[in-house]
Amino acid sequence: MDTLRRREIMYIKGIGPRRAELLDKELGIKTFYDLLHHFPHSYLDRSSIYRIKDLTGEMPYIQFKGKFVSFNTLGEGAKTRLVGLFSDGTATIEIVWFRRIRTLKDMYVTGREYIVFGKPEVFNGRWSMVHPEIDITTSAGAMQGLRGVYPLTEKLRSAGISSRTIHSYIQSALASVRNISDPLPSDMIAHYRLMPLHDALVNIHTPHNTAELQQARYRLKFDELFFLQLNILQYSSKRNKHILGFKFPRIGRFFNQFYSECLPFELTGAQKRVIREIRADMGSGRQMNRLLQGDVGSGKTLVALLSILIALDNGTQTCLMAPTEILATQHYETIAKMVAPIGINVRLLTGSTRKKQRDIIHRELEDGTLHILIGTHAVIEDKVKFKNLGFVVIDEQHRFGVMQRSRLWQKNTTPPHVLVMTATPIPRTLAMTIYGDLEVSVIDELPPGRKPVTTLLRYDNSRFEVYKSIGRQLREGRQVYIVYPLIRENEKLDLRCLEDGYQSIRNNFPSYRTAYVHGRMKPAEKDWQMELFATNQAQILVATTVIEVGVNVPNATVMVIENAERFGLSQLHQLRGRVGRGADRSYCILMSKPQISRETRQRLELMTTTTDGFIIAEADLKMRGPGDLEGTMQSGIALNLHIANLATDGTIIQLARNAAEDLLDSDPTLCTQANNRIARELHTLFDRRIDLSHIS
Ligand code: ADP
Ligand code: MG
Repeated sequence: MDTLRRREIMYIKGIGPRRAELLDKELGIKTFYDLLHHFPHSYLDRSSIYRIKDLTGEMPYIQFKGKFVSFNTLGEGAKTRLVGLFSDGTATIEIVWFRRIRTLKDMYVTGREYIVFGKPEVFNGRWSMVHPEIDITTSAGAMQGLRGVYPLTEKLRSAGISSRTIHSYIQSALASVRNISDPLPSDMIAHYRLMPLHDALVNIHTPHNTAELQQARYRLKFDELFFLQLNILQYSSKRNKHILGFKFPRIGRFFNQFYSECLPFELTGAQKRVIREIRADMGSGRQMNRLLQGDVGSGKTLVALLSILIALDNGTQTCLMAPTEILATQHYETIAKMVAPIGINVRLLTGSTRKKQRDIIHRELEDGTLHILIGTHAVIEDKVKFKNLGFVVIDEQHRFGVMQRSRLWQKNTTPPHVLVMTATPIPRTLAMTIYGDLEVSVIDELPPGRKPVTTLLRYDNSRFEVYKSIGRQLREGRQVYIVYPLIRENEKLDLRCLEDGYQSIRNNFPSYRTAYVHGRMKPAEKDWQMELFATNQAQILVATTVIEVGVNVPNATVMVIENAERFGLSQLHQLRGRVGRGADRSYCILMSKPQISRETRQRLELMTTTTDGFIIAEADLKMRGPGDLEGTMQSGIALNLHIANLATDGTIIQLARNAAEDLLDSDPTLCTQANNRIARELHTLFDRRIDLSHIS
């Protein structure tokens, strides 16, 4: 590999200094290594030869074998063209050239057998093919099997570099390297049934068949993911050694008293397991960085609280940060009520906390008498100083950036333990890559007695029926959410909006009170409306997705989502999680316009068949790709994947992870002779890319 990285493409036949510069500028291709890793984005099938008489309708790129019958130059000036009549014995097709006519005329002759490859089109009622690729059937250039089609840029095209040109450069490069040394040891290659690297690099460009292509892709994906995982694991073990944290050896009065006297219900098995994991982390002497995933309603708050109590038992202060004022307030109320009997001091700090209250909080934080601070972003402001902050809980992780989190760490000389909670389930394979070295805990069990929410897909034309069933629930004393994609009507988007919806709901249900919330309201106004709904003074809440996160009203049993076709699956799942929180049977009604694509219908139907957040997250990921996740999570790792796909290559990620773990178990510093090549490759790939200070 190192040799490939040293050889410049300039010396490949046909490239030279000018084209080399252009390829570098446009595609970042400098060396043989870069060129061979410029993978095709698709393939043309040259494995079969069509018959001209079988041509029908829309044809893909295909090839014929036959002879030219005649050549004619037609038209004048700019319209001059050369037309060759080509026959394969079954019928004829016109081969048309508009450029380089004079040279071409001398290149091809009648009566000789050629393979022409291109896209047939009907022009003036006759089949024709413009500027096809032509090979003599006996020449080595005559293609069989699949051939790569390469990503290009406009500049390259206008400089006369086509996909075929790139292909030929790659062929010359491959012809001049004898054997590409494989960085992986042979036992690993055998164990994971990998194609040797050399063959993979040949076959990715010119596979004979799809089976070969599969194997080549598999090998190259494996390598990318293997080195990525190796890098993550190696880094995280280094980091674990270096970042010391609080050691919390004790389980004391707060935890024990709460557990025996105040715990409102038996913990689920999953909650117990996760608390054990957290305890082990907190007792290890290293700083904990743990991600807690649990579906909506799985009881993360209680896990957070019990962990907080451990930190308090060990003499430190704690802080819980939520992304919105509503959520922070809700956490505050729940937690304050639960810990009231054991004499713990809890306070709420948000943007709207009054000066007088703020002063009290600041004072109590600094003299150490405040045990738990709950709040929004307000808690990370520099003014907020703790006497001894030992543990931080962050709810709904991906709304906070890495920078914000690191500001919390810096509130003590020993970095506090961090527990990040999210209800957006991320498939494990993705989490282990995106979160780098965050340890992951999962609550995969709901508290007992929950009835799964019944989800229905309804179209706009059955709105009347939907309203009737809403009416029934209201008469039984239940409450209803109705969610809209927009606040106000928008001429460009044919979507239902909250303002119209609010009017129409009020007209349809005049004997009930309707509250409304959306993102453009003042926080105080929003809280007031939410309060109306939470206290059942209002029975219906019309809202935008601001209610997506966290709101807990167990008496609400119906969630109607308008224009559900516009929402992502994970978002629908979050919204649906607002109901089904009490003992009553709950419903989620997905309203959609009737004209939707098949894919959209499948997406919505999946919602009606499962309530498992992980299945939904996997499906969402496959449909939308991990782009969103990568962006919002700001992992700090430049993934730089050319061929592997985090969304769809879960199995390979897992295998690569196993391989990396096994390797580091047997040779933690990669210093043995056998792993010499791996170590070098890892160093070359990642040395410049990863910024160690960014991951949290
Ligand atoms: P989330 O994980 O979505 O934050 P919460 O922590 O808000 O979930 O819990 C959802 C509801 O389930 C709350 O009303 C909580 O009191 C209740 N709950 C939590 N744990 C249990 C349990 N072990 N048994 C019964 N109910 C529980
Ligand atoms: Mg929650």
